[in-house]
Amino acid sequence: MTASRVLVLNSGSSSVKYQLLDMRDNSRLAAGLVERIGERTSRLKHTPLAAGGEAREWNGPIADHDAALKAVAEELAKDGLGLDSPELAAIGHRVVHGGQTFTRPTVIDDAVLAEIERLIPVAPLHNPANLTGIRTARALRPDLPQIAVFDTAFHTTMPESAARYAIDVETADAHRIRRYGFHGTSHAYVSRATAELLGKAPEEVNVIVLHLGNGASASAVRGGVCVDTSMGLTPLEGLVMGTRSGDTDPAVIFHLARVGNMSIDEIDTLLNKKSGLIGLCGDNDMREIRRRIDEGDARAELAFDIYIHRLKKYIGAYCAVLGRVDAVAFTAGVGENSAEVRAAAVAGLETLGLAVDDALNAVRGDEPRLISPPDARVAVAVVPTDEELEIATQTYALVERTN
Ligand code: ADP
Repeated sequence: MTASRVLVLNSGSSSVKYQLLDMRDNSRLAAGLVERIGERTSRLKHTPLAAGGEAREWNGPIADHDAALKAVAEELAKDGLGLDSPELAAIGHRVVHGGQTFTRPTVIDDAVLAEIERLIPVAPLHNPANLTGIRTARALRPDLPQIAVFDTAFHTTMPESAARYAIDVETADAHRIRRYGFHGTSHAYVSRATAELLGKAPEEVNVIVLHLGNGASASAVRGGVCVDTSMGLTPLEGLVMGTRSGDTDPAVIFHLARVGNMSIDEIDTLLNKKSGLIGLCGDNDMREIRRRIDEGDARAELAFDIYIHRLKKYIGAYCAVLGRVDAVAFTAGVGENSAEVRAAAVAGLETLGLAVDDALNAVRGDEPRLISPPDARVAVAVVPTDEELEIATQTYALVERTN
């Protein structure tokens, strides 16, 4: 019997999300989350999906990532899915920043760990937590292949014309300042799934992927290869997001520092945590914003309009970047669920070949589906993302290749 299970770990600063998948049929055996690690009120929620069992919850202090992963291992063991099982083929780790070094999933060794560590200055919020997760998992199963799957990897194909900012080259290079892009695992998965929905190979189609979650990004994918994306050095650039401003004039920062007397840290918090939809109207959940609009709330409506205006600008820009567009795919929490956002984003773009069919757009579901009229020049699609499956698929493929 060959080992066919992959554990996917997504380690944040105070949380660990995980899924255990069986790669023979891509089924999910278990999923869960440890939150508020390091606090007295930590919580572990574990759902044994294979057994069709009820979710189990545990509340109490979990001191660190080591304790968190051990608690996860115990929960998995209760369902006969323990980390010591010979059926576990590998652990796939989501790593946010792979810089220019990591262009594909990579088997983790000491040198890889050192390089992820070297990239901390460009990903101070994410890479340290990802590293902690990796170190903990390696200590638990030192013999098992552990694979890093990078959020930035899919975007490393961007040409220099898209990846470079127009700032002094020596200064930019000295500080590794360039556009890296994020959500790459999702953009890779969704662009491929969109091609599949069209009955074509990824090489044959040009797709604009709109990943609209709490964080949001757009990408232009030509023949399966990313040629531009809206996030940059950090996830702050690009679209209006739940709490991030997206694009602003960089001089806003100088102005806030000089005239507003704000510190760099205060401005960082303002633009990353208190801007976007929440800054504009006090809510970052699109459901709540739509509800308020239905009640005639002008601030919610303006926030929605600003969100849509930016989205349209990126759709237009990526039509220009790609030249020929075969499909526009909506994904993630907002993209998969908000028919209003989808309709508003393509409204008036008929000259670009874009339109949605209202009846098709209103249909809800978990499967990839077309929402454009049958005779549309460009397919508009809703394609649910699955970052865990993509990480597991990439992890398993690498393990199979290296075995
Ligand atoms: P992330 O992974 O970035 O945290 P998700 O992709 O899970 O985010 O998206 C979360 C967002 O999706 C929520 O903040 C909310 O705005 C939006 N969302 C979720 N369900 C719906 C829905 N039924 N209608 C509209 N928006 C929704």
